[in-house]
Amino acid sequence: MGRVLIIGAGGVGSVVVKKCAMNGDVFTSIMLASRTKEKCDRVREEIKKYIGVDIETAKVDADNVPELVALIRKFKPNLVINVALPYQDLTIMDACLETGVNYMDTANYEPLDEAKFEYKWQWAYQDKFKKKGIMALLGAGFDPGVTNVYCAYAQKHLFDEIKTIDILDCNAGSHGKAFATNFNPEINIREVTQRARHWKNGKWVETPAIIEEGSVHFSFDYPVVGHHESYLLYHEEMESLVKHIKGLERIRFWMTFGQQYLTHLKVLQNVGMTRIDEVDYEGCKVIPIRFLKKVLPEPSSLGEGYSGKTAIGCVIKGRKAGKEVQKYIYNICDHAESFKEVQSQAISYTTGVPAMIGAMMILKGIWKGTGVFNIEQFDPDPFMEQLNKQGLPWNVVDFKGKLPE
Ligand code: NDP
Repeated sequence: MGRVLIIGAGGVGSVVVKKCAMNGDVFTSIMLASRTKEKCDRVREEIKKYIGVDIETAKVDADNVPELVALIRKFKPNLVINVALPYQDLTIMDACLETGVNYMDTANYEPLDEAKFEYKWQWAYQDKFKKKGIMALLGAGFDPGVTNVYCAYAQKHLFDEIKTIDILDCNAGSHGKAFATNFNPEINIREVTQRARHWKNGKWVETPAIIEEGSVHFSFDYPVVGHHESYLLYHEEMESLVKHIKGLERIRFWMTFGQQYLTHLKVLQNVGMTRIDEVDYEGCKVIPIRFLKKVLPEPSSLGEGYSGKTAIGCVIKGRKAGKEVQKYIYNICDHAESFKEVQSQAISYTTGVPAMIGAMMILKGIWKGTGVFNIEQFDPDPFMEQLNKQGLPWNVVDFKGKLPE
């Protein structure tokens, strides 16, 4: 049915490509391309061994538009899935424009020299994509991604009017390392060391970062995994949900962090290891956070022996048929089960599976259009149906718990 080019052979990329291979009726030809071809070839061997499917691999520098264009012209995909890093979003979008191929990603563009999470750079491609007659689907992972689809589903089926959304992301798993991040360390650390922001009554409200004095946190009782300290954090899906969920008065994002992670992060921040600017080290230009990434475990290496579960979902409050309603839509994912299925931990799994489903929606022509779209702009039903079939079943319950006012 369709040819797909997946760029980025990291933790998430390896799950996307394996799940595509498992859905061979939709993804008839698959190519995995990345900066380091050996990593693509390793994934190709695993796919041959465990799934019995042949894929193609290639080396590409996704910062280089002519190189991307040449690869796209050679492989002729119907869709490019970008699961490299947010820095490459715009170059890959440029290459898609030049070649007239649809684009999809799981994280919004960030400039290298400034840790800033905004859709404005990618939304600026709206007219160009429209004119070319192609589509870009932004943020098709779990959060952003599934959480946005949960909100669209709630808007369509569960509420007449949504007033507040709280996205709650808990990783109650253990990888056994003193300090490691579950997705790309550089991107992860840039994200969580930001000052927190949430949206209330039409304005963004800033609060201290998770490791700063005065950070906002509380203990939430998650289904299956129980109580975990959850910290207010800025997360990119809030920016598009504020635009697309009508009548919204407040949206917040909470993520759980263990004390050991916070202590390590605080020390790294205090000694300057999370800096994103260049420092001169004996005549060599070094960016501390990039060096730190080099010495930390790769997210794709954390799968073996990872135990425990993730619990990610949305508590949504509003009105239906004149009555106050509170709903909680969530997924529970098990690290060991993910490893058994695709040799990856649950963070890569919960990102890679929705990315494959988003791609499936485009290739099957279920989600179509021209221009740049966030995932909540499409019909949530076929995507929600696939979540249940592809390994990320969801639950919807009346919410009886407590959240901070
Ligand atoms: P990894 O670091 O494990 O993988 C990134 C891959 O991209 C690596 O293989 C890397 O190559 C490759 N890459 C980096 N730069 C280039 C380049 N210039 N050209 C070609 N390839 C390149 O990260 P993850 O897999 O953990 O994350 C991938 C993406 O998924 C990130 O954008 C992340 O923000 C996003 N994400 C989204 C989530 C969501 O829920 N929406 C959750 C988790 C992640 P090399 O191996 O050579 O370094």
